[in-house]
Amino acid sequence: MTQSERLKLILSYDRTRNEYSLVAHNQSAEAADAHVAQYTPHLRDGCSFIVLVQGRPHRTAAAHACRACRETVARSTHLQPQPKLIKEA
Ligand SMILES: [Zn+2]
Repeated sequence: MTQSERLKLILSYDRTRNEYSLVAHNQSAEAADAHVAQYTPHLRDGCSFIVLVQGRPHRTAAAHACRACRETVARSTHLQPQPKLIKEA
């Protein structure tokens, strides 16, 4: 497995509203785990982080503006109905 195949993206998911926001992408597995461990206690009720594997590095600098992230979420989360993207967590 190459380095790029292990890249992760992080979203925060609000299961009450069925909304998500993109938190970060192009993260190593270690960085993603550290982020989730650090920030999970600060999430509001009903929210949780979801970490997804990226198929490839994303070129957009910011995850919240990244189309590849949105496509990965649509393909990989298996949430029904599809959650709605919001800009802020
Ligand atoms: Zn991305």
